[in-house]
Amino acid sequence: MEICDELRSFEATGVYRLDGTGTSTGVTFVDPVRLLNGYYQRFRVVPSAYYSRSFEPPRQVQVEVGDPETVQPEKRRKRKRNQKTKPKELNAMERIAEARHQEARPLLLSAHESLVNDKYLLEHLSKMNEGKEHTLDVGSGSENNFIELGTSWRAPFYEITICFRKPHVVGDEEGPFHAQRTSFPLFNSIISVEAIEEAEGEFQNRHYILPRESCFLMTDFKRVRDLIPGSSDEGYNLIVVDPPWENGCVRQKEAYPTLPNRYLLYLPVQELAHTAGALLVLWITNREKLRMFVEKELLPSWGVKDPTVFYWLKVKPDGSLIGDLDLFHHRPYECLLLGYINVNTDAKRESNFKLLEGSQVIMSVPGAHSRKPPLEKLLSEYIPGPKPPRCIELFARELCPGWTSWGNEPLHFQDSVYFSQK
Ligand code: SAM
Repeated sequence: MEICDELRSFEATGVYRLDGTGTSTGVTFVDPVRLLNGYYQRFRVVPSAYYSRSFEPPRQVQVEVGDPETVQPEKRRKRKRNQKTKPKELNAMERIAEARHQEARPLLLSAHESLVNDKYLLEHLSKMNEGKEHTLDVGSGSENNFIELGTSWRAPFYEITICFRKPHVVGDEEGPFHAQRTSFPLFNSIISVEAIEEAEGEFQNRHYILPRESCFLMTDFKRVRDLIPGSSDEGYNLIVVDPPWENGCVRQKEAYPTLPNRYLLYLPVQELAHTAGALLVLWITNREKLRMFVEKELLPSWGVKDPTVFYWLKVKPDGSLIGDLDLFHHRPYECLLLGYINVNTDAKRESNFKLLEGSQVIMSVPGAHSRKPPLEKLLSEYIPGPKPPRCIELFARELCPGWTSWGNEPLHFQDSVYFSQK
């Protein structure tokens, strides 16, 4: 594809393929805001609300131990100096982690180089700070805390009122829209937005923008089996899992509760997979102990063999990495492990999807703490089964058209504070 076509496609989709590694699909830059905006007709995601951390003036940046994205620059410099002057012997686990890093390093460097050499992208990045009007409201504490509300004795009594805009049908013609309001139990019940455009939800004086054809279940892990479909051909073709891994950094932030890693062995991933096959994507942290647990126990227990690793490389709006690539405990990237369920990869012939082949790098400017870029567009060619695919995110904090989102706060980023009217 010519650069102009690629740029036009980027403007429309938020996905820009770079060929820094010599392959056309190995390196991709994503603008999640553009991508998410494709989901809405009457609303748009406000860039400065999505990227609130990247555009905070330096004095407002919270000092939080451990996260390279939020630690103050002076503190970061000191820490770097300390790490440089006092080299520490690595233990056996750390040596394995370092070896993995060294293996990934050339791919990551080459991906980043292709970004900084692309003047069109850099120009786009520099213009991302639009729509400042909403920045101050994001994270102000006035949003509903679904994690707390869901554990209250009142949880079974909370209802969300959803306003669907439906067209009047006069004969064969569609007339003007009328609003239809329906209330649903907010917790422990599957709610589907069956509409041709986004609906608006209201709960405790807050408004939520709910994409068309999205579906969510807000429950605790104890009720995750409520997701299992009645028949296996109603299963999912793309299963994205972003667990609340136990991790010092998250604990310190108290952003959300974590789960003991072994609980994940009870996620009913096999029962969620479509009979025609599913692509499973698991976000992991860079801790070697976790990686070993995932590769040796968790993925085999879910029936996933030989996972492929993708990297999410985080950049700042000026195109530089959010931190030193080689800083041991604070890598500026996260890993996703991908593999198939119910797909015989040896026998795969004449099917309508591509098999994963080798590592890829996804680059973007990160949004709120732990918020991941949307993946469906990036992965569509690798998803087995019928089209459009049925997709589910486990431990989700937002909704997408055609997806089921499950977790204890799937409406978190649907608060109207993240949106403005078109
Ligand atoms: N993928 C999300 C995103 O991009 O914004 C981030 C998910 S975050 C890593 C993990 C999520 O799991 C948090 O929303 C957290 O509240 C949720 N979680 C933690 N404990 C849970 C539990 N016991 N049951 C259900 N969800 C839980």
